[in-house]
Amino acid sequence: MEGQGPEQNDKSLTGDHMIPVRCFTCGKVVSSVWGEYKDRIVEENPKDVLDDLGIKRYCCRRMLLTHVELVDVMAPYQ
Ligand SMILES: [Zn+2]
Repeated sequence: MEGQGPEQNDKSLTGDHMIPVRCFTCGKVVSSVWGEYKDRIVEENPKDVLDDLGIKRYCCRRMLLTHVELVDVMAPYQ
């Protein structure tokens, strides 16, 4: 009767090398939140998502915010 609920529910992000692993300025790992961030900003305010993910410093927020802009530029228009 043990083993209630999943113990690990992390999405695998292997193969996604589009985001730098660490913040260039402070060294905080940002790649670990990139997948969730990218999914959530579709329907949520990016600033709120960053707060929720614990990305508090401006240097780290900039890493993710500016990265979205680059992805947007590279994405083909449909
Ligand atoms: Zn940083």
